[in-house]
Amino acid sequence: MAEYLASIFGTEKDKVNCSFYFKIGACRHGDRCSRLHNKPTFSQTILIQNIYRNPQNSAQTADASRCAVSDVEMQEHYDGFFEEVFTEMEEKYGDVEEMNVCDNLGDHLVGNVYVKFRREEDAEKAVLDLNNRWFNAQPIHAELSPVTDFREACCRQYEMGECTRGGFCNFMHLKPISRELRRELYGRRRKRHRSRSRSHERRSGDRSRGGRERERRRSRDRERSGRF
Ligand SMILES: [Zn+2]
Ligand SMILES: [Zn+2]
Repeated sequence: MAEYLASIFGTEKDKVNCSFYFKIGACRHGDRCSRLHNKPTFSQTILIQNIYRNPQNSAQTADASRCAVSDVEMQEHYDGFFEEVFTEMEEKYGDVEEMNVCDNLGDHLVGNVYVKFRREEDAEKAVLDLNNRWFNAQPIHAELSPVTDFREACCRQYEMGECTRGGFCNFMHLKPISRELRRELYGRRRKRHRSRSRSHERRSGDRSRGGRERERRRSRDRERSGRF
């Protein structure tokens, strides 16, 4: 019996524990869910709730007939946001293994950012500190998340461009960053692990053209929206 219970834990067959909370770290019923949301006491992953604002969504509500923000501008804005948060997490709290941002529209998933740290201590530190901080003139809400495997949490149809549930799907629609930024953030980190001096690595990285461009972009974004 115990083995059976362990095998169905957090799946749809489990009538006690909520499979959505377990897999996705967010469930549309929130605290009123009839199944248990087992909040982890330690985890490598944190959830920062509703922090990413897709400019296309707000532009659409202002004028439903056409979108004021082009796909290129949206991607630039998104890459700027992703880089800012990723860099802030690594500089303030510790090495990030993976970061994902939801492009869903449901209240429990919209703009959610999941950051998986390499060490659980860093995740804990991040949650404590972030809950005293602001982003875009809004107080941040962060918590430890049960999500460890993003392949289980994300919508496979979305990745193939064929999710019929659209923005209100209850699985994560993870918005991809540009290939260039992916190489820059995750590649830079691998390099840094090999190098003996972190600060030296960062300094020399920032002197490159990419670094200067990045700085410019970041300060421009900051002027525009305030951010952290
Ligand atoms: Zn639930
Ligand atoms: Zn979907």
